[in-house]
Amino acid sequence: MKNIRNFSIIAHIDHGKSTLADRIIQECGSVTERELKTQMMDTMDIEQERGITIKAQSVRLDYVKDGEHYILNLIDTPGHVDFSYEVSKSLASSDGALLIVDAAQGVEAQTIANVYLAMENNLELIPVINKIDLPAADPIKVAEEIETSIGIDATDACLVSAKTGVGIRALIDAIVDRVPSPVGDPSATTKAIIYDSWFDQYLGALALVRVFDGQVKKGQNIKLMSNGEEHHILDLMYPHPLKRIKTNTIECGEIGIVVLGLKEVSVINVGDTITDAKNPTAEPVGRYEPAKPFVFAGIYPIDTDDFEDLRDALNKLRLNDSSLSYEPETSLALGFGFRVGFLGMLHMEVVKERLEREFNLDLIASAPSVIYEVYLNNGEKINVHNPSELPEVNKIDRIEEPYVKATVITPSIYLGNIITLLISKRGTQSKMTYLNEDRVMLEYEVPMNEIVVDFYDTLKSISKGYASFDYEPLDFRVGDLVKLDIKVAGEAVDALSIVVPRNQALSRGRILVKNMKEIIPRQLFEVAVQASLGSQIIARETVKSMGKNVTAKCYGGDITRKRKLLEKQKAGKKRMKSIGKVQLPSEAFMSVLKMD
Ligand code: GDP
Ligand code: MG
Repeated sequence: MKNIRNFSIIAHIDHGKSTLADRIIQECGSVTERELKTQMMDTMDIEQERGITIKAQSVRLDYVKDGEHYILNLIDTPGHVDFSYEVSKSLASSDGALLIVDAAQGVEAQTIANVYLAMENNLELIPVINKIDLPAADPIKVAEEIETSIGIDATDACLVSAKTGVGIRALIDAIVDRVPSPVGDPSATTKAIIYDSWFDQYLGALALVRVFDGQVKKGQNIKLMSNGEEHHILDLMYPHPLKRIKTNTIECGEIGIVVLGLKEVSVINVGDTITDAKNPTAEPVGRYEPAKPFVFAGIYPIDTDDFEDLRDALNKLRLNDSSLSYEPETSLALGFGFRVGFLGMLHMEVVKERLEREFNLDLIASAPSVIYEVYLNNGEKINVHNPSELPEVNKIDRIEEPYVKATVITPSIYLGNIITLLISKRGTQSKMTYLNEDRVMLEYEVPMNEIVVDFYDTLKSISKGYASFDYEPLDFRVGDLVKLDIKVAGEAVDALSIVVPRNQALSRGRILVKNMKEIIPRQLFEVAVQASLGSQIIARETVKSMGKNVTAKCYGGDITRKRKLLEKQKAGKKRMKSIGKVQLPSEAFMSVLKMD
């Protein structure tokens, strides 16, 4: 145990976490240059394209310093806040963390959010300033920002370039010197935490564990402490960047992969504790909480015949993503689909994209919604995550909505506009810190409803891309909220209902019907688009009829041209959904959240 070092890397997106991980792996000689495919740590397609890390991946490396042999376990964490529970469990499995900050960009919002999680887990933090090869690098200024924003000493920060390799060996030496070796009782009964799980086509459900006491043995019968279920360990492996190395035991302080041979990953939950079935330990490693979805949306196939395919696809995705939850839902407007719960907006986008790309489905997502806690006059409390299911006004005593703590870091020249934006989102300031003369960190308490869509895009556009943003859930608070309904050609479209603050209902209603008018193509007849609160219509627009058939302007003569036009029309229709007699394009369902 003395020579084991378990550490994570935490960073804001794009600050070089994956590149640095690859570089450390290479420096430890576990793979040759030729084998080092770029971005080895990010294995899923979407991760590569978007440059994000969704599932944590770990590797076990060998390193020799001053003639002494060390085992370095590099525990990769998903960097995004949507996956903060997973980040937190990866960190709980580490004894130290490298805090990577881009030498040209400085501290950003996700740096802060991840540092808070690392501090909660009492990790030894090693500040690392990366990209010192860049002409714009300013390591001294960045070290000061680290000190001001996080309050840790950054004078001995490691200066590296993951790109050129400068400073990497010194960094690994610092890991050996500064990250404490694991503590634990090797002679006690088995106690290990699951900090990642996934599904392998050949081996079934796999769990990545960190052993805190005793050891995990091949052939052992183990118990999952969250639900008391017992399973048999078929095999054990150490994670290696290119292959998995079989082992008979995973010792105290080590990390490793447990093969249970199960067909579904949903029984293996991140955060759960594994112990010996016959001789269980008394206390789990920290509290286990099931993944909690924060954002919900209806997902519907454009073609109603695809419903069963969509169900299969969701089942398959869940094999690998135990945080995904869904149940069948029926919409008057959209037919049969599913209400899907997500950890956050990024998670939602990734899931929708995977459904469309990997399963070849054409989908409509209704506007995302948060959970509302609705207290009824009869004393009952219900959770509503579909605005169209909000009870009638006269039955409601009060509605409580979720709040988040939002962190924004911005160059100070955009401060005024960003504060105006946060106020318009019903935010209240809890803290403002100048990181130096030209960068500011803002902390606000904001209703989550206001940030689920659009907020991040608006923030990016008013700060020319320079402001960064992250959030963590706070609590539920009373809001003066109402349900805004949309009618198209006289029919209420349930999938378009949204919950808004009462004093914004009129302006939102007007913007909404105006946007819808632009999006709905002209039909053969006039189409009224109305916004209403209960039975009261508060805004209306009309989509004029197209009058004559499109092909009429071809003067009959040119038959191929006519056919081409009709084909074009048909292709355009593919992504349309019929609502009554009206054809609505799929974007219409997201447009309800656009504010301008
Ligand atoms: P992650 O999102 O934190 O995993 O960041 P990546 O490792 O994907 O890196 C983001 C971008 O920064 C990529 O284009 C890298 O090539 C680049 N990058 C990473 N480290 C360095 C470095 O030391 N110097 C320079 N110039 N670019 C780097
Ligand atoms: Mg990455």
